[in-house]
Amino acid sequence: MIDRDRLTRHFLELVQIDSVARHEGQIARKLADDLRALGAEVEFDDAGSKVDGEVGNLIARFAGAAGAPPLLLCAHMDTVEPGIGVKPVVDGDVIRSDGTTVLGGDDKSGVAIVCECVRAAHERGLAVPPIDVVFTICEEIGLQGARHLDLSKVRARYGLVFDSDAVGCVFTRAPGSNHIEAVVHGRAAHAGMAPERGINAIQIAGAALAAMRLGRIDDETTANIGIIEGGRAVNIVPDRVTMRGEARSHDTAKLAAQTEHMCAALRDAAARHPGASVEIKVEETYQAMNVGDDTPIMQLVRAAATQVGRQIESAGMGGGCDANILNRRGLQVVNLGTGMREIHTTSEWLQVSDMLSAAEVTLALMQLAARPAS
Ligand SMILES: [Zn+2]
Repeated sequence: MIDRDRLTRHFLELVQIDSVARHEGQIARKLADDLRALGAEVEFDDAGSKVDGEVGNLIARFAGAAGAPPLLLCAHMDTVEPGIGVKPVVDGDVIRSDGTTVLGGDDKSGVAIVCECVRAAHERGLAVPPIDVVFTICEEIGLQGARHLDLSKVRARYGLVFDSDAVGCVFTRAPGSNHIEAVVHGRAAHAGMAPERGINAIQIAGAALAAMRLGRIDDETTANIGIIEGGRAVNIVPDRVTMRGEARSHDTAKLAAQTEHMCAALRDAAARHPGASVEIKVEETYQAMNVGDDTPIMQLVRAAATQVGRQIESAGMGGGCDANILNRRGLQVVNLGTGMREIHTTSEWLQVSDMLSAAEVTLALMQLAARPAS
């Protein structure tokens, strides 16, 4: 029931519309027209004005079977850079970028799958529940669209986000994450004439780093210091170092413990040097998600996969996506793989057959979801 050629054409058309974060205006207008033509009531929320973007989140509501709980189908419209002037190269089943930009399969594969599924349902008059299509903005710059999504315009409280790679996977768990920024203050002095008057901030930062557990902490937790900057000249005792890093964990308590461990290493190193100090800022980047295997959405995913002769395993993902935010905001959503590969690189590619199989599972799921809530 899924039209492979139409899905491919639409995907190729979408990736050639520039839409780096905050510049989703053009693609949003096109998608709004497409969805209206299929009978949806389309509107935009005011998230765009909150993030200085061209446009808000697109929300398209389709009527559906009476009594069935509305179903959410969600993907993001923005891409990472370099994402301007994408020239897709089609090589049999594979579509890749020409190597100068990303492909934008993250997340236009998700957008194309959603559009193809509502189109197929419309064209064949299939019984499906009321569908809320949400195409978000600014996912790639901190899930900003989902954070500001106006939920009063969205009827659905469960559904799918299409924003990950393997089609045999549905991501139900994702880590929470903290961003950590520390400024170590020492004291400047001439390194040759009066080194005893100085306090070396680089040395303190180094001691703190050496005391930190970083990398893979356990099977649920990772940590990294990714940026360190400081010092003015080789003959000046450095008085200031900035360090930036992060901790992630699927477990909220472990995330808190790892974050505190990193902060303590910094405080302890500073405390061993009288006159030194450290300022630490911890910001929550996103919160963990964990959707159970026995929830209604996961029962539907499994039943739909079985119906089209596939197997989909639930899994944990290492990053954050709109699903983290939506779950935290009270919805129940899981992240279904679309086939996007090597994302956020200029080698990005995908296989059309993967998009096709994700679309088949989705269309089967939409039909199964048409049953009234029991
Ligand atoms: Zn994405």
